[in-house]
Amino acid sequence: MKSFDALGLSGELVEVIRQMGFENPTPIQEKAIPVLLQGNTDLVGLAQTGTGKTAAFGLPLLELVDANIRSTQALIVAPTRELSVQITNDLERFAKGFKDLNIVTVYGGASISDQIRKVKRGAQVIVATPGRLIDLLSRKVVDLTQIKFVVLDEADEMLNMGFKEDIDEILSTTPDTKNVWLFSATMPREVRDIASNYMNNPQEIAMEGQKQGNENIDHQYALVDDRDKYLALKRFVDYTPGIFAVVFCRTKMDTQKIAEHLIKDGYNADPLHGDLTQAQRDRVMKSFKNKTLQLLVATDVAARGIDVSNITHVIHMNMPDEMEFYTHRSGRTARAGKKGISLAIVSKKEMGRIYQVEKSIKRKFTQVPVPSGDEVCQQKMMDLAQKVRTVEVSEEEIDSFLPEVYHELKDFSKEDIIKRFASIEFNRFLEYYRDARDLNKSDRSERKRFFDEDGMEPAYSTGDRIFINIGKMDGLDKGSLLGLICDYGETDKTKIGKIDLKGAYSFFEVEKGMADQIMQGFDGVEVRGRKVRLEMSGDRPERRERSGDRGDRRDRGDRGDRGGDRGGRSGGGRRRSFSGNRREDSWGGKRKPKRY
Ligand code: AMP
Repeated sequence: MKSFDALGLSGELVEVIRQMGFENPTPIQEKAIPVLLQGNTDLVGLAQTGTGKTAAFGLPLLELVDANIRSTQALIVAPTRELSVQITNDLERFAKGFKDLNIVTVYGGASISDQIRKVKRGAQVIVATPGRLIDLLSRKVVDLTQIKFVVLDEADEMLNMGFKEDIDEILSTTPDTKNVWLFSATMPREVRDIASNYMNNPQEIAMEGQKQGNENIDHQYALVDDRDKYLALKRFVDYTPGIFAVVFCRTKMDTQKIAEHLIKDGYNADPLHGDLTQAQRDRVMKSFKNKTLQLLVATDVAARGIDVSNITHVIHMNMPDEMEFYTHRSGRTARAGKKGISLAIVSKKEMGRIYQVEKSIKRKFTQVPVPSGDEVCQQKMMDLAQKVRTVEVSEEEIDSFLPEVYHELKDFSKEDIIKRFASIEFNRFLEYYRDARDLNKSDRSERKRFFDEDGMEPAYSTGDRIFINIGKMDGLDKGSLLGLICDYGETDKTKIGKIDLKGAYSFFEVEKGMADQIMQGFDGVEVRGRKVRLEMSGDRPERRERSGDRGDRRDRGDRGDRGGDRGGRSGGGRRRSFSGNRREDSWGGKRKPKRY
């Protein structure tokens, strides 16, 4: 590996980057810097953010621009405001010894008059988003006639965002003698078109560095029902102490909604999307960079190109529509040689996208289960234990308070004290997770026994199908019905298969040998004055649907017969406490089934 000294950069710049802590050039820097320093070549660099590409084009650019001439000599076009600001900040850090050099950044959503003033003062380097640049060009504020270098950064992103025409217009106002340096994480045909339309024999650099970045990303997915995605997100967050993540959503509305829910649920989260004012976006980005914000919930557009170090997770609340978006999203983590996780929380219908991305990035996703409530609690508990182990105790300050505490607790054993201290921290948490588990009934990972290895289809077909005369009309959803089946059937979710929820009735599958226990468990249970009835089913649901009324009539007819069983059943105390309830609008008498 070459050192920065060997790349042809001036001693001044080498010293600056050494002071910034860059010890060795990244692969793209090693390849691009000597080529670009020649100052007479077009270049196509296949590299995503995180590979050090800003320095790869930024350092040669600073060497080639003449600070003694006031005209604009270099233009860098980037898809988003965030990326433009980031590039500008990097360039300014590199150029801190270049006294007469002005780098001006122009982007939408901020005062145009300030930007006009800065450009007019003389800007040898302009960093711009396409829309604002076009605006300034049409106002004749920016003059590109003396441009020597145009850098198109994240070219694929700019095309994805519909900037094709803007880029054409921008490039058409620059002299033919300029060099174009194009960087892109992916190389779709549209990017190739730019290369062939505007570049002369460009040198192409594709990086092992790019692969390196990818290899540090662990691609994972969790399979859940659509409606459980938010719960799954919370579980992963709770299960991972120290998580520092970008949560991607497809729409601004989803982004806002999920961020609001997280905030309401006590998480350290904030949204980032285009409907926020610039000041709001700045505030959010600042706190994310400072690490005072833990979860940045963002749209693809708003979070593109952001460079924040040590992001542990990129979480996809849905798979992006565009394949390239996945690369850009996941590229927010595993930056500068670090490792990171890209976790997609997907429903069954998104599995196709996972396979497509696998093909496109040539990497396999690992399926990970959503941690169960118990696992989350266990993890939290261990996190607390580790904190206890590593906490700094300021002996002197605390000593004087302890004798009375020792006295107060003298009757407790060590185990009791641990339990009690842990409970102070955990009672509310455990309570919460009891509820969360109840809501998260269709969590696939908790029912994985019934799914094939690929998690796609119920594997089990040898169980029994049971008819139950309650359904949506009784205010049930699949989760609450599963809860009732487990409660009354005195079993757990792993024994229950597919649930077919209908209007006035439902079907569910149970593991072979479990049907009797579950059916007996419901003996004597009533819902809104109606006795709950279960039957082994050979019937297809469609037939039931058509004959729904008859079914209900049969229920009424059954009541007397079954009623006779009730008193004779042993161990039915809990169940009987629900029988005889005649209230119209509730499930139970004194005790409501806790899962409903
Ligand atoms: P970029 O791909 O330009 O967005 O850079 C990704 C991150 O890597 C930035 O935070 C840079 O400051 C950092 N970086 C760039 N080049 C080097 C280098 N040679 N050594 C260490 N870090 C670097």
